[in-house]
Amino acid sequence: MRRMILRMGTGQLRAAEHNESGWETGALMIIWGTYVTRKIVQTGQFYCPGCAQHRSYNLRRPKKWGHLYWIPIIPMEELDRYVECNACSKAWNESVLQHDPIKEQQERDLKLAAMIARLMTLMSGERDVSSELANRIVEASKAPLGVSTTPAEAFCAVTAMEDPNEILADAAKQAAYLTDRGKEAVLRAVISVAPNQSMREREFALADTIGRQFGMTPAHVKGVVDDMTID
Ligand SMILES: [Zn+2]
Repeated sequence: MRRMILRMGTGQLRAAEHNESGWETGALMIIWGTYVTRKIVQTGQFYCPGCAQHRSYNLRRPKKWGHLYWIPIIPMEELDRYVECNACSKAWNESVLQHDPIKEQQERDLKLAAMIARLMTLMSGERDVSSELANRIVEASKAPLGVSTTPAEAFCAVTAMEDPNEILADAAKQAAYLTDRGKEAVLRAVISVAPNQSMREREFALADTIGRQFGMTPAHVKGVVDDMTID
């Protein structure tokens, strides 16, 4: 009996030629083995860590089959699904779909812009967001923090959360994403919309509270207030 294994392609396909006794050489050739199919089960956009940007992907489900003459006969094993980037062709664990640094940054920016809008409105004492205030909110978000927002978004943020205690608690949470310079920039923007240039007790107390929510020292807050107020 003569047995020969032929390897084809990347080694995923195997063919075996059997010459059983009693048969003339070449009279019968049985080809069998295993191969892997990689069916696409989902497509979409994802953040590819390899490309460091959004790309389209194919989610593939590899399955090992036993074949006879390359006709799949027996499903043998389901392998781990993986995400394939259509740009760089790299394969990633399926969990890569849960992580999107670009989207996470956008969501953080949105929350930050909302916080700025609320704090500035709180300081302004306005019940509704005037178009002048909305424009100043847009400006204050953009200039030092690089967060872009619109007057309409600022208005929505202000109407979505009106309780001052809730606004201040949210500010303490957002502070985690701000640098010291960022915190000071927000505080300056807030103070800039105080109704009186020389701040009264209410305005000063609010600035002090916001500073504390940001983890700034009272001395730091006082320094900023003194710097911004005209006697
Ligand atoms: Zn890629």
